[in-house]
Amino acid sequence: MTDKNLSFMRSLCMGNIVEEILFPFPKVSDNERELLKTTFDSIGSWLKGRETEFRKWDKAGELPKEFLDEMKQMGLFGFVIPESFGGVGLSSTAYSRTIQELCQYDGSVAITAGAHSSIGMRGLLLFGTEAQKEKYLSKLATGEMIAAFCLTESTAGSDAAGIKTKAIKEGEDWVLTGEKIWITNGGIADFFTVFAKTDGPEGQMTAFIVTRDLPGVSSGPHEDKMGLRASNTVTVSFDNVRLTKDHVLGEVGKGFKVAMKILNVGRTGLGGGSIGAMKKSIRLASQHAKTRQQFGKNISDFGLIQQKLGHMVVECYASEAVVSMVAGLSDRGYQDYAVEAAISKVFATECLWRTIDESLQVAGGSGYMSEYPYERIMRDCRINRIFEGTNDILRLFIALTAMNDVGTHLKEVAQSLGSVLQEPIKGFGVLSEYARKRVTYATGIGKATMTKAHPSLKEQVEVFEDCTKKLASFVDKLLRKYGKNIVGKQFATRRLADIMIDLFALACVISRVTASIEEKGLEASKKEHEILQVFAGQVSRRVKSNFNKIDDNDDEQIISLALDAVEKEGYQWDTI
Ligand SMILES: Cc1cc2nc3c(=O)[nH]c(=O)nc-3n(C[C@H](O)[C@H](O)[C@H](O)COP(=O)(O)OP(=O)(O)OC[C@H]3O[C@@H](n4cnc5c(N)ncnc54)[C@H](O)[C@@H]3O)c2cc1C
Repeated sequence: MTDKNLSFMRSLCMGNIVEEILFPFPKVSDNERELLKTTFDSIGSWLKGRETEFRKWDKAGELPKEFLDEMKQMGLFGFVIPESFGGVGLSSTAYSRTIQELCQYDGSVAITAGAHSSIGMRGLLLFGTEAQKEKYLSKLATGEMIAAFCLTESTAGSDAAGIKTKAIKEGEDWVLTGEKIWITNGGIADFFTVFAKTDGPEGQMTAFIVTRDLPGVSSGPHEDKMGLRASNTVTVSFDNVRLTKDHVLGEVGKGFKVAMKILNVGRTGLGGGSIGAMKKSIRLASQHAKTRQQFGKNISDFGLIQQKLGHMVVECYASEAVVSMVAGLSDRGYQDYAVEAAISKVFATECLWRTIDESLQVAGGSGYMSEYPYERIMRDCRINRIFEGTNDILRLFIALTAMNDVGTHLKEVAQSLGSVLQEPIKGFGVLSEYARKRVTYATGIGKATMTKAHPSLKEQVEVFEDCTKKLASFVDKLLRKYGKNIVGKQFATRRLADIMIDLFALACVISRVTASIEEKGLEASKKEHEILQVFAGQVSRRVKSNFNKIDDNDDEQIISLALDAVEKEGYQWDTI
């Protein structure tokens, strides 16, 4: 039995490949597979052929009320709610796969259902008392209540700990005042998970359940957005809203942890959505390439078009491997997969961005026309790299968690670390005398091997093992080079994060291809092995390049140019 508190990536950074976490590749259970098939069939017969309506709603910037009612009837708000409360009780794997399916039709529809289940009411499932669940879950399952997650404020985006919304204790009650911006579903929701400052001995932030019927709750006009235009995004205000202790979600003072846990668990929804959009983009681009003729040939006969399509397939397969792995970790009861979940979000959303960009390129001018879906997918998915934690902040989280682990492990420096990196999102403070102590290979790094992969994948496994050693010496070199300034060295931190992202993705693809070979045999898995070969080659080259940049980089010049641009407020050269 594997220790369910172990994290694959955190262990990897300490020099251990915990194969039991990685193998076997997670599978949807037979029961759930049947359920999903039926669900996808009914989603298909409901949404297929409605492209014109989606485009119309995108232009109008709103889903009509009648369509929201259809969503409720179709059970789109009950995906993750247990059957005992009238929901479908999908596992994380099945939920992620279902959001994927919705995204193949329309991003705004998927985000409306996804924001409700992934983040809006997720806190109630994770932290709610029995009484709270009893009170709200069945209404949330039918969509009688739609849920929204209220964290962001005008002065607190990435720095979520800096929120100003306050809940002040008055006797046994709390009085909530503040304004949340850009809240998905905020205008159509009746149930809000709200984060407020409750400065007190227990901690600084608390999560509350707030319902629209309470005096003082209001929402603003619909925001006019670049993408996901038909999804509802508004300001939600709380003006002296009186709450009782029954509205507290989780423990008083532990709101930051509640928020991070919700976002963490919800990430496979966004990952699933990204894969759905990727599959749609690949389908559109392949169909176009197959039928569009130029220079007397189908454009699919040209190498440059093949290059795009081939890379799209590799990125989609790898994203699917990563997101499925993370959903599987959640379903198998692993407790610590925050780094892996962050990686899955960054990886899948960036693969999608490249995929839709190349897909649109394959379509040429048609791709730019609103008559076709490419531009809408592109607009819709741009936000994926921004919300639910920007990819930049998540990269810092991924890398700083690893460095904190290594630092903590090295007992001699542990004391000087303090709590600075315990919650990397919260405090990018100063990392005391970290590297002054000459961090070495005391972690046992360099001994990691992978034995459970199929033997035919030997070469790719060697790439993984080799890159694992590079990861170890990267962390070591970084700490030696920058010492206490490491936290401020974001160029280097980003490179470490990118190595970790690549390594986790490669590990997941190896696991996925192993499962395929074991199930279908070598011959039937040949194409998947090709994907792995390409991906391992890419990872190897990227890791090498990131590694070499520790010493050979132009970071200082780039910083100098950036600061100059900021000071001059723009570009200062012209040809005339
Ligand atoms: C369509 C849409 C829907 C949304 N839905 C919701 C919702 O339902 N609920 C909710 O609470 N919020 C929601 N948000 C808000 C979203 O989560 C925030 O936009 C996001 O967290 C980023 O915050 P910000 O926009 O204030 O950017 P900032 O935090 O101001 O960041 C600006 C840039 O600086 C970078 N940056 C910031 N700090 C650092 C650092 N320390 N180091 C390096 N780079 C840094 C960021 O990565 C980013 O590139 C939504 C936003 C949009 C646009």
